[in-house]
Amino acid sequence: MLRKNRLFTPGPTPLLPAAQTAMASFTAHHRTADFRELFQRVLADMKEFIGTRNDVLVLACSGTGVMEASVSNLTSPGDKVLVLTAGKFGERWTELTKAFGCKVEVLSRPYGETFSLDDIQAKLTSDIRAVYVQATESSTGVRHDVERIAKIVHAQDDTLFIVDAITGLGTTHLEVDSWGVDFIIGGSQKALMMPPGLAYCAVSERAWKRMETTTSPRFYFDLRKERKSAAKGESAYTPATSLFAALGAALHFIREMGNGNLAQGGQELVRNAGLCAEMTRAGARALGLKLYASRPASALTAIASPDGVDAGVIVKEFRESFDAVVANGQGEMKGKLFRIAHIGYYDYLDTIGILAALEHVLAKVTAKPVEYGAAVRAAQEVYAGSLSDKRQLIGA
Ligand SMILES: *Cc1c(COP(=O)(O)O)cnc(C)c1O
Repeated sequence: MLRKNRLFTPGPTPLLPAAQTAMASFTAHHRTADFRELFQRVLADMKEFIGTRNDVLVLACSGTGVMEASVSNLTSPGDKVLVLTAGKFGERWTELTKAFGCKVEVLSRPYGETFSLDDIQAKLTSDIRAVYVQATESSTGVRHDVERIAKIVHAQDDTLFIVDAITGLGTTHLEVDSWGVDFIIGGSQKALMMPPGLAYCAVSERAWKRMETTTSPRFYFDLRKERKSAAKGESAYTPATSLFAALGAALHFIREMGNGNLAQGGQELVRNAGLCAEMTRAGARALGLKLYASRPASALTAIASPDGVDAGVIVKEFRESFDAVVANGQGEMKGKLFRIAHIGYYDYLDTIGILAALEHVLAKVTAKPVEYGAAVRAAQEVYAGSLSDKRQLIGA
């Protein structure tokens, strides 16, 4: 059969056609009134999308660039920081903070799990200057409890709370200001339905204040410089102009999802991911597959590979039969699980389609018979239930 190439990976994610068109046709120079108008509108809209009054900055880099900025701007060599890690992206925080000379306390949990609040409390001595965590650990599909962790961290006056929400934003309910997240990070290639190349953050007043005293080296990622330029409607260096045009189109689409209200559109996007994830989990369970995450995120569903089957074989079969790209496990879970994402531009048909494909993939790679329709039926029931709950899908 004809096969359409489709991404089911936790980044990059499927592209919004309007974003592609916007970037393809964009030619304005960045030091012009036209671009300034776009730049200012996008930064204002990003605050609504994130749900914050804090300053938002959008930089030309992948998500890791702004993760690095949160270390180089908010810490000095020798500062004690606490990293909460339970997967590949948590490990990145450990490497990054070490690279900038921090004294790193690590609270680590096995892949697939999350942290106990008591363990965090025990590690959080008064000399910890900053705490780093993921909102959703994309390597395992686990959602960490940002709200409750924030509460513990903020019992201390002088500790900043930094959240990598690169797959969390747009898939997960996050209240940046009221929970007290000092620095939250997102990336363009996740829920914003655009290509890789932009990463963004919202920065609290406490974090801006910390930046005045920190001594780690920084230049391109000196956020104080970006803030000053942004106040004048510009970026410090050449911005990724065409990606800004794409971002403008994506934010417009999300606003339309909320019938003209961007914050509401953002919540619709989160609900959409939640329903796609619930359908996917029900489908996988109906096929007798084990879900991997102890506290599953809506961003993606991590499914344990059946006994004796390397997850790489499943990933390959999805690709060869259907040109569908699902993700293998990462780090120590490579080969042991596969991941299906629901971040951004996914809908009902994508979800039903990947589950139907999963039935065929399983039939091919395992010796056991598969009951065709089992995963699809379970997902249908979740969907039907969501309608009777009066939960609205986008566009419904
Ligand atoms: C995608 C992702 C990142 C960023 O990775 P880049 O390749 O630098 O964009 C960081 N953290 C999480 C949790 C992610 O999912």
